[in-house]
Amino acid sequence: MLLVVPKETKDGEKRVAATPSTLNKLTKLGFEIHVEKDAGLLSLYPDSEYEKNGAKIISDISASIKNADVIASVATINPNLARNLKPGAICISFAQAKRDKENIKEIINAKASLLSFDFVPRISRAQSADALTSQATVSGYHTMVTAASLLPKMFPLVMTASGTIRPSKVLVIGAGVAGLQVMATAKKLGAIVSGYDVRTASKDEVKSVGATFIELDLPVVEGSGGYAKEMDQERTKLQQQLLTPHISATDVLITTAAVPGRPAPRLVTSQMLSGMKPGSVIADMAAENGGNVEGSVAGKIVEINGVKIWGGQNIASAMAPDASFLYSGNVISLLSFLVKESKIVLDKNDEVISGSALVINGEITNEFVKTEMAQG
Ligand code: NAD
Repeated sequence: MLLVVPKETKDGEKRVAATPSTLNKLTKLGFEIHVEKDAGLLSLYPDSEYEKNGAKIISDISASIKNADVIASVATINPNLARNLKPGAICISFAQAKRDKENIKEIINAKASLLSFDFVPRISRAQSADALTSQATVSGYHTMVTAASLLPKMFPLVMTASGTIRPSKVLVIGAGVAGLQVMATAKKLGAIVSGYDVRTASKDEVKSVGATFIELDLPVVEGSGGYAKEMDQERTKLQQQLLTPHISATDVLITTAAVPGRPAPRLVTSQMLSGMKPGSVIADMAAENGGNVEGSVAGKIVEINGVKIWGGQNIASAMAPDASFLYSGNVISLLSFLVKESKIVLDKNDEVISGSALVINGEITNEFVKTEMAQG
C-alpha cells in the first residue's frame, strides 16, 4: 500500500500530515511512504529525517499520487493533484463542503474517496483521531501566550518590596476544547480567569481548569452531539448586555465561540468594548470564520480606542512542529480504522468511517456535500 504525503500548498499553511518520528507506525500498518520534497520544512522536519525513518523523498509528487492508495494532507488535496488520483484512492484531510468544494469535485471526478477530520464522530473510540481537538489545543495555547505578550501588564500577582502588582484578569467566551486550553494556560501564567459558554456541561468544564464560570440568567443553547446551536436575535442581545460589565472589567478577552456549519456567532460589538481600559487585549479565535468580535480581522492586529484586537488566522500553523506531530497521530489513528491485515477496507458499517466519509469511490455520502454540489 502506498501512502503519499504532499507538501501543503495553501498560503500560510506550515503543517505537514506526517512527521518523521511517527512513520514507523505507518510502516507497521503496511504502508510504503512517499513524502514530497520539503513537505516538512516549515514544520522544521527536514527531508533527511523522513529518509532516516523509512520514507522516500519525491520531487514530482504527481507521479506518486497516480499510484497512491492513501493521500494524507492537512488541507484537502489541491484540485491539480486530485486530478491524478486513481479510482478508489483515499484522501484524508480536513475538508468542508463549502470551503473545499472545488477540491471535492475533483475527488468525485476521479472516483476516489475523501475522509474529513471535520466530521470524525466525537465518540471515545475515535478520540485519538480527533484532529479538531488536537489542533484546537495547540491553537488555544498559542492564542493565550500571544494575547499575554500583547498585554503591557504582568499576569501573576507579584509582591515585592517595591510594591504589589495585581494579577491580570482574563475572560474567555466559548469554553470548548480551545477555550478550555486558553483558560488552563492563563491559569498557569497566574491570571484570574473566568469563562462563559452556552452549553450546560460547560459550567463544570470551566471549573475543572480552575476558572470561574460566569452565570448569566439566560436559557441554555444546545444542539446535537454536545455542540452549541445558533442563538436567536433576542438572546444574542441579552447575552451581549449581560456580558458587557464582565468585558469592561477584564484585561484580556479571548473569544472562541463556534457553531458547526454556521459562521461564528457575533458575540461582542464595538459598543461593548468601549468600557475596556486602554492597553487591554482581545483575541478573536473565530476571526477567520466571520469573527466573534466586531472589527477583528483575521491575521491582523487592529487597535480601537487603545484596545488591541488580534484576529486569529490558521492559528495551529504558528506552532507547526507540535501541531503536525499531533495531527500525524490523528492520521495514523484514522488509518487504523481502515487497514485490516495490511489491506484497506472502507467499512461503511463502522460509524467512524461512515461519519467522516464525505465521498466514497466518487459517490457523495455526506448531506452537506450533497447540498453544496446540488447548487452547482
Ligand atoms: P466548537 O469549536 O464548535 O465551539 C467552541 C465553543 O463555543 C463551544 O463550547 C460552544 O458551546 C461555544 N459557543 C457557541 N456559541 C456560543 C455563544 N453564543 N456564546 C458562548 N459560547 C458559544 O466546540 P468544540 O471545542 O469543538 O467542542 C464542542 C463540543 O464537543 C463540546 O461539548 C466538547 O466538550 C465536545 N468534545 C467532545 C469530544 C469527545 O467526546 N471525544 C472531544 C472534543 C470535544
